[in-house]
Amino acid sequence: MQESATLKMTQISRELKNKGIDIISLSIGEPDFNTPDFVKEAAIEAINNNITKYPPVAGYESLQIAICKKLKEENNLSFDPKQIVVSTGAKHSLMNVILSIVDRGDEVIIPAPYWVSYSEMVEFAEGTPVFVNCSSEQNFKITPQQLKEAITPYTRAFLLNSPSNPTGMLYTKNELKALTDILENYPNITIISDEIYEYINFIGKHESIAQFENIKDRVVVINGVSKGYAMTGWRIGYMAGPLYIAKAVTKLQGQFTSGACSIAQKTAEAALLGSENEKKIISKMTNTFKNRRDLVYSLLDIPGLNTKRPDGAFYFFPDISNFLGKSYHGTIINNSDELAMSLLLNEHVATVGGDAFGAPNCLRLSYATDEQSLKTALKRMRKYFSEII
Ligand code: PMP
Ligand code: GLU
Repeated sequence: MQESATLKMTQISRELKNKGIDIISLSIGEPDFNTPDFVKEAAIEAINNNITKYPPVAGYESLQIAICKKLKEENNLSFDPKQIVVSTGAKHSLMNVILSIVDRGDEVIIPAPYWVSYSEMVEFAEGTPVFVNCSSEQNFKITPQQLKEAITPYTRAFLLNSPSNPTGMLYTKNELKALTDILENYPNITIISDEIYEYINFIGKHESIAQFENIKDRVVVINGVSKGYAMTGWRIGYMAGPLYIAKAVTKLQGQFTSGACSIAQKTAEAALLGSENEKKIISKMTNTFKNRRDLVYSLLDIPGLNTKRPDGAFYFFPDISNFLGKSYHGTIINNSDELAMSLLLNEHVATVGGDAFGAPNCLRLSYATDEQSLKTALKRMRKYFSEII
């Protein structure tokens, strides 16, 4: 198994920072905001109320109910609380689902570019990731034709991520519908829909592929509170899907980790059940991300870089192929990982090479940091790229 490229770059930049080097980290995808006060208060209350015993494996029923309410009210999706399993972050939910349904030889279709952990998770389950290359000309999105061509008798699952990490692209309702028109002909395929960036959407309402009647009974929605509520460290994610998958995931989780942290579960429940007024913080954070998106987009106007303007999440994924094979002060930059490392060591800006995302010609930048740091980072990057010949 490969080490997570996102976490690796973050760790290297942390170590350099600890040595006193002025690193600006655009490597990790994590909101820089603090968890909202009303959410933190619920954690203190949970501690004071001694919510400190083993929680049920699949999550407190009150949290499962709160998740169902959220899915109904915000996404118009109907789930029974028994179809919800709460885990230690959406990453854990994804791993649980993949381990539960993928067996040796099963194929999982993954549109590339993809989030670094998908391929490793499928391989860990002894499945075969089937990558479908989605070019920047098609906004990095899989077409129905491509999906159809990738399906074989061994296809067990299709993994979709919208808004996408690393590209920031969103699938429209029509695009999702067109994918379901293909999938409806293959009843053995489970659709795993990673919607963790739901709230970080700059163009409108979130659309879930689980809304379509023709396939909704075999969609597993993955979501959580990490990104939307600035709660990455609390580690609460969940799956909502077919009962047999929820049962399998619960069995697995019962042997591996038991229920997710009791206090964090109560805190996530408070986040989901927050009043309209309390939840205004979400749109405030999204607006801040949008302003930063606009700022970074204008500053990425660096000769030789080709950059798409993302509609969601908090990443840019510029194409750096014009710089590969060229020289930075006498050192040849062969691939995106080398470029990311050279940029870190020479200009002290941490990014992540596109290789681990299945897009070796790209570089991922997270703009979940303050404006001043973004401006400085982009200035350093401009200088760095101007010195590649
Ligand atoms: N899916 C994607 C696409 C992500 O970027 C992340 C971020 N780590 C996750 C899932 C996992 O989120 P969590 O922090 O809740 O485990
Ligand atoms: N999802 C974030 C990222 O892609 C967090 C790190 C991780 O879990 O991979 O940077």
